[in-house]
Amino acid sequence: MLGTVLHAPRDIRCEEVEEPKILKPTDAIIKLSASCVCGSDLWPYRGIQAVNGPQHMGHEYCGVVVEVGREVKTVRPGQFVVGSFCLSDNTCPHCRFGFQSSCEHREFMSGAQAPYARIPMADGTLVATDEMPPDDLVPSLLAASDVLGTGWYAADAARVTPGCTAVVVGDGGVGLMGVLAARQLGAGRIIAMSRHKARQELALEYGATDIVTERGDAGVAQVKELTGGVGADSVLECVGTEESMMQAIYCWRPGGSIGYVGVPHGVELDGQMLFFQQKNLLGGPAPVRRFLPHLIDLIMTRQINPGKVFNLEVPLDQVAEGYKAMDERRAIKALLRL
Ligand SMILES: [Zn+2]
Repeated sequence: MLGTVLHAPRDIRCEEVEEPKILKPTDAIIKLSASCVCGSDLWPYRGIQAVNGPQHMGHEYCGVVVEVGREVKTVRPGQFVVGSFCLSDNTCPHCRFGFQSSCEHREFMSGAQAPYARIPMADGTLVATDEMPPDDLVPSLLAASDVLGTGWYAADAARVTPGCTAVVVGDGGVGLMGVLAARQLGAGRIIAMSRHKARQELALEYGATDIVTERGDAGVAQVKELTGGVGADSVLECVGTEESMMQAIYCWRPGGSIGYVGVPHGVELDGQMLFFQQKNLLGGPAPVRRFLPHLIDLIMTRQINPGKVFNLEVPLDQVAEGYKAMDERRAIKALLRL
């Protein structure tokens, strides 16, 4: 079969890869309904994260189960399933505490930018829908696998509560999903930081009440002004750079909370600064599995439409254009048709 392989920075190819097969009795094989490119795929694509030999890319997936290992009990062939980019047993103490992304047996998904994929720990990782979803819901269900689940975790970790003021730093796919999540969790005011017209419009559609176009100190000053000099109750940091992290930290009020889900690259925080800032920090890879049943329900009943975050669709053999468009910020997120 064909799959997406990153050979070196900016050298992404659609080429022949090995077809997945059951390796352990707890595995499942799924036929993907669609795949996509993640903002985090851009870190190795841009060479910011090392590429050590060819990598079969892709960690966001949903589709139909075609085969299961003999120990798999909760999903069966023919079912439509969504899983997290973090593979988990969903039974260990960390999973039961709601942190499946720190599962004692955690693995990270790969090889999902392809027509078929192997899902280890299928029972713990996959959630089946009650019925086969209509085609138009596939992009939204695919979004639940990572971009939506991660934006949701940012809002959850930032302790968004009804009526609170939330700031979202970052207008990529995750940031926009963070706006959607903050809205769903009842935030009264949602300040989205964005300089791009198309992204601002989507943020407003997803529930943002204010847009701040400034960055750095000027952006912080703007947020302070909008909050009567106090700062936000909740801040969702959805980028992962030193600048975005500092912007997030200075935007939120003492006692407030930050959910940081942008994978930090080059971020260094000073202990005394953190001590006197007096704020809650929770981040890390999102425990998407915790939120999946609720997110699938919201999508299947058409209460949310996260699939709109895909504003580019390309066939798998043109995956290079998907990466390029996201790298150049022409596309928010690229859907791959298989
Ligand atoms: Zn676990």
